[in-house]
Amino acid sequence: ASKQRLLVVANRLPVSAVRHGEDSWQLEMSVGGLVTALLGVKEFDTRWIGWAGVNVPDEIGQKALAKALDEKLMQRCIPVFLDEEVVHQYYNGYCNNILWPLFHYIGLPQEDRLATTRSFQSQFDAYKKANQLFADVVNEHYEEGDVVWCHDYHLMFLPKCLKERNSKMKVGWFLHTPFPSSEIHRMLPSRLELLRSVLAADLVGFHTYDYARHFVSACTRILGLEGTPEGVEDQGKLTRIAAFPVGIDSERFIKALELPEVQDHMKVLKQRFAGRKVMLGVDRLDMIKGIPQKILAFEKFLEENPNWRNKVVLLQIAVPTRTDVPEYQKLTSQVHEIVGRINGRFGSLTAVPIHHLDRSLDFHELCALYAVTDVALVTSLRDGMNLVSYEYVACQESKKGVLILSEFAGAAQSLGAGAILVNPWNVTEVAYSIGYALNMPADEREKRHHHNFKHVISHTAQEWAATFVSELNVTIVEAQLRT
Ligand code: UDP
Repeated sequence: ASKQRLLVVANRLPVSAVRHGEDSWQLEMSVGGLVTALLGVKEFDTRWIGWAGVNVPDEIGQKALAKALDEKLMQRCIPVFLDEEVVHQYYNGYCNNILWPLFHYIGLPQEDRLATTRSFQSQFDAYKKANQLFADVVNEHYEEGDVVWCHDYHLMFLPKCLKERNSKMKVGWFLHTPFPSSEIHRMLPSRLELLRSVLAADLVGFHTYDYARHFVSACTRILGLEGTPEGVEDQGKLTRIAAFPVGIDSERFIKALELPEVQDHMKVLKQRFAGRKVMLGVDRLDMIKGIPQKILAFEKFLEENPNWRNKVVLLQIAVPTRTDVPEYQKLTSQVHEIVGRINGRFGSLTAVPIHHLDRSLDFHELCALYAVTDVALVTSLRDGMNLVSYEYVACQESKKGVLILSEFAGAAQSLGAGAILVNPWNVTEVAYSIGYALNMPADEREKRHHHNFKHVISHTAQEWAATFVSELNVTIVEAQLRT
């Protein structure tokens, strides 16, 4: 029998496309966790539907891109075209300036509040329009029996668009960010419509049980619906709600450590930091990551522990993100200022306590860093899951380093037993935990690491994707049995 087709719909296609001429494109498949996860699900024939991240206003360019994707990526990628104005209002506006901060419990910047209030409706309209464009492409490629899996806060309107057209379509939706308390969700002017459209899906998934519970209470309190242990019921129709914690492709990291180029990087790093303990932070430079809080806690640790001052260094990789947005520019200069102050205060002629990099690393450099460092410090103020913590654990089989992890990251619910959990807002607690981690005896490190490592290698991204899709199939069979 031929494999069941899986249509994965996400805002971005997992490719980068660069235009070289009127009808010529250069394509590169990106290898993130989600991509490997879905390619790893061998029992399905997977297609991607999404925006290619570039504005292609002309039809010749659009046709050429669709054809290039079709040929080069073996029909795996199908583009959705969005014009510049829609991208501005839907993606930059509604998704990134409204939903992202709200779902992470960050209010809007004060000066943006009124502007956002005024433009809210037009942004929400663009959001719905964009979601409808995604739905049109899905409908065009849909074949009976396909499973359609919608991803993330960009596409909360999609399940409804799809089901309106074809109530038999198997539709799942998964959120990669936190879902906030209903008290936060109810601030959204579009709170009702968003919940109702997500509920049109057959299966709705979150990273943690808490996010799922928040979603159910938003539906009961805001829509007045009935919550059941299975999900949410509306006039006899059940939408199943459940937690599916994502994982990483742990094999990919473990195998990479054997590569000569990674070994070379490791050698260089070990020499460079010989005689010092190394702490590592890897984050996009986003408000949700709590980078200033992390650095202030490190300062407090140095302040209170003079004996450690020339024996420990913090490497902070801060991957630039949304660099055109003033709020993010402000965060960048704030972080630079704090780092500068601390290095000025505790540095010597030959060494500084903080190495802060405003750039991304390639995969091999990143693996080497994960492998040679003594402590990883994750201080997210809110974080859907946080895969960096998983990747660190995967690379620490020989060193058995310590993970300090924010209790506000989804990962705290799976790696909590092995990590040192902290409240990133409590600088005293984080500073104390840094000392505790640096002084931890080998047997405790080993025990904690073992606990987390077992989890990371047994709860992979592949397993996550396979579980979600099989649960979706089961949900639909059960619904048919009920009617
Ligand atoms: N990452 C990367 N290059 C870097 C630093 C990080 O590709 O220089 C990757 C990292 O391996 C991880 C992802 O970025 O897979 C970050 O995922 P996470 O869930 O921790 O946070 P997000 O950025 O999605 O909020």
